[in-house]
Amino acid sequence: MVSAYSLIVIGGGIVGLSVGLRALDHGLSVRIVAKDAVEASTSALSAGMIAPAMEALTEADPRLSYARYIEAQKHWPSFAEDLGLSEILELAQPAVWLWSGDNGPSPDEMMQRFTDMGAKGQVMREEDLAKLGYHAPFQAIEIVGEWLMAAEPVLSYMKSVFVERGGQWIESEAAQVTPQSVTLSDGQRLEAGHVVVCAGFDSAAFAEAVPSLAALKPIKGHLLDQAQKADPALAGRMIRSPWGYWVFLDGLAKFGATMQTGKADYEVEPGVVTSLSEKAAKFMPDSVGGLADAVPRVGVRAATPDSWPMIGRDVSGVYVATGMRRNGWIYGPFAADVLMAQIGGQGAPEGSEAYDPQRFTPH
Ligand SMILES: Cc1cc2nc3c(=O)[nH]c(=O)nc-3n(C[C@H](O)[C@H](O)[C@H](O)COP(=O)(O)OP(=O)(O)OC[C@H]3O[C@@H](n4cnc5c(N)ncnc54)[C@H](O)[C@@H]3O)c2cc1C
Repeated sequence: MVSAYSLIVIGGGIVGLSVGLRALDHGLSVRIVAKDAVEASTSALSAGMIAPAMEALTEADPRLSYARYIEAQKHWPSFAEDLGLSEILELAQPAVWLWSGDNGPSPDEMMQRFTDMGAKGQVMREEDLAKLGYHAPFQAIEIVGEWLMAAEPVLSYMKSVFVERGGQWIESEAAQVTPQSVTLSDGQRLEAGHVVVCAGFDSAAFAEAVPSLAALKPIKGHLLDQAQKADPALAGRMIRSPWGYWVFLDGLAKFGATMQTGKADYEVEPGVVTSLSEKAAKFMPDSVGGLADAVPRVGVRAATPDSWPMIGRDVSGVYVATGMRRNGWIYGPFAADVLMAQIGGQGAPEGSEAYDPQRFTPH
């Protein structure tokens, strides 16, 4: 029997799990259909940064990007509290922007770029930077309010909470979708009050039935996973630079990432790994101990023609939340709140008009 209050979510990455958990909070009965285990999603391999300022700095319009990322990030604290994850946000270390002072901008010029966006932070003193293992000619700025999640364990935890709270996790491939049903690849048909597609770039496979999804383009990304000895000074830090970023989690350092527009395959490319390793070596702290055992990982991001996510109701009546590009962790809880407001017929959260999927299907 179809319940008007039931929801099927296709996809179990950060976006699908956020939507699934929020929908349970709203009293809906929820099924997540995911073709891969949580650990195999792009969300799980990602660096897990929820870092509006660091992300916006290198965008075409940093002020606009920062404003939108901050608006989305505001949905994290209540979401994290509901999951018992608040401490990760409260104890977060400031994010570091690091660059070489040789031929680079002055610290004041660099700080101004962050201040112009609205971000708060300070130029790091030489002795504080030395504690992280960096010395002249490196310069750095610390920005507060940027968060880091241990992506894979946090996602696994979110899945376990989803199931504990009565959500149903179906590990299967969705083959077809309508506004009120999902047909699995084995032919089984599931019905629901509403359907949401949160399948990352694979959402594009549903473009025939859900036209806005035809706008999606892939961006492949390589990242290096490197086991490391815990260094308390680096624990929970993200250190970003013009060459890429290091993030330091419990026992694992990650260096990323490439942005390979138009590629949707999961092959590890040796030439790309070499180039990424060279960039990583430019500011690798001693505690990482080299890259000989680094494990290259590949994920595929979903992007849209205007670079902004699509979150909302497609012309078909199917809901979508995808196109998060390199910001799925920033947007997960925001996307969930936008969809819950739309499905429940309430006012949409501030700023959500910019993400209407129907901007890609003009009448
Ligand atoms: C190297 C790298 C580093 C990144 N670092 C960050 C970062 O630090 N911060 C940040 O915010 N973002 C980061 N990103 C981007 C982020 O990973 C994505 O924006 C995010 O993963 C998108 O989440 P998602 O839930 O939409 O999709 P995904 O994580 O791709 O999940 C898709 C889900 O859909 C399921 N699925 C697909 N097709 C079907 C189907 N037909 N039937 C059933 N299930 C299906 C999959 O099994 C999976 O569960 C990074 C990306 C890469 C590649």
